[in-house]
Amino acid sequence: MLTLHDSFQRQFTYLRLSVTDVCNFKCVYCLPNGYTKSKQEQEPLALNEIKNLVHGFSRLGFTKVRITGGEPTIRKDILDIISTVASIPGIAQVALSTNGYKFDEMAESLQKAGISRINVSMDSLNEERFEKITGKSNLKKIITGIHLALSLQYTAVKINAVLLKDGNSQDVDAFIAFTKNLPITVRFIELMQTGSNLSLFRRSHVSADFIKTKLIAAGWQILPREISAGPAIEFSHSDYQGRIGIIAPYSKDFCSTCNRLRITSQGGLKLCLFGDQNYDLRSMLQREEQLPELINRIQSLITYKTSSHSLHDGKYGNTSHFAIIGG
Ligand code: SAM
Ligand code: SF4
Repeated sequence: MLTLHDSFQRQFTYLRLSVTDVCNFKCVYCLPNGYTKSKQEQEPLALNEIKNLVHGFSRLGFTKVRITGGEPTIRKDILDIISTVASIPGIAQVALSTNGYKFDEMAESLQKAGISRINVSMDSLNEERFEKITGKSNLKKIITGIHLALSLQYTAVKINAVLLKDGNSQDVDAFIAFTKNLPITVRFIELMQTGSNLSLFRRSHVSADFIKTKLIAAGWQILPREISAGPAIEFSHSDYQGRIGIIAPYSKDFCSTCNRLRITSQGGLKLCLFGDQNYDLRSMLQREEQLPELINRIQSLITYKTSSHSLHDGKYGNTSHFAIIGG
């Protein structure tokens, strides 16, 4: 079987696939004014293109696909997309990132279609702060969805909270308490700079080090990193059923274990979340017979992957916001 490695001996097995740029939330760090269609925007990849794409990656040894967006549950054919991806030989895990808006209504059908792991973005446990950050007032509905996922025994249920200095730092203790009796992982994500959030970034970026210090002082232990794990450092505590994770892209060595590639909703390959190129794959997704051409193209593009992002030099790539690429 083929495998995909870059020039730094990193193997890639995890594909993050954005299926739409559209979102119904207005997160301050992502789409503060809501989604607006840009002039150059084409239709998102169709089901057949997605099938051919994932087929190509599975031939290269990819085993995990995360469906993301924008908000993926907005797409009318999302269940067909998921069941198609889940049925591709070699794909062992299909995960979903969602803002949770419709998750309580869709939890069962998403699971039946093939989703085994979900990440729900939830930046605060306080109604008022949640609304201030996301522009939505449906925190209770999202929490209901999280409980439902647990009762349906999804393999992994994770909450992502983007840390904002004056926006939700006061929620950290409540989030830690939330993991006491629930087998969930709450992951604090450091705010990342994009093309459109510079002033917010300057005002609100805060390092997650204070959470690390807090956890260690309270007896939480850093877990050894699993081979297929993401970039989070995870902590556990014998008195807590859940875990806490920290995603700190500005920390040293963040990129050394990179195992993922990203696809935009229009079929652009992004070698790094902070890269400044999207390499077109769409023209190779039109017919099944193009599979060898697609595989060749991915194999040659991977050689351009750099050892690390250049965030420390203020270079955050060509992405104006993460709704384009799925985070
Ligand atoms: N709409 C879905 C959601 O919110 O989960 C999926 C797409 S969203 C772009 C994926 C993840 O990226 C979310 O957890 C979101 O909080 C995170 N994100 C978006 N912009 C970010 C930024 N500037 N810095 C850090 N995380 C960000
Ligand atoms: Fe939408 Fe997710 Fe961006 Fe929030 S983070 S605006 S939910 S795409």
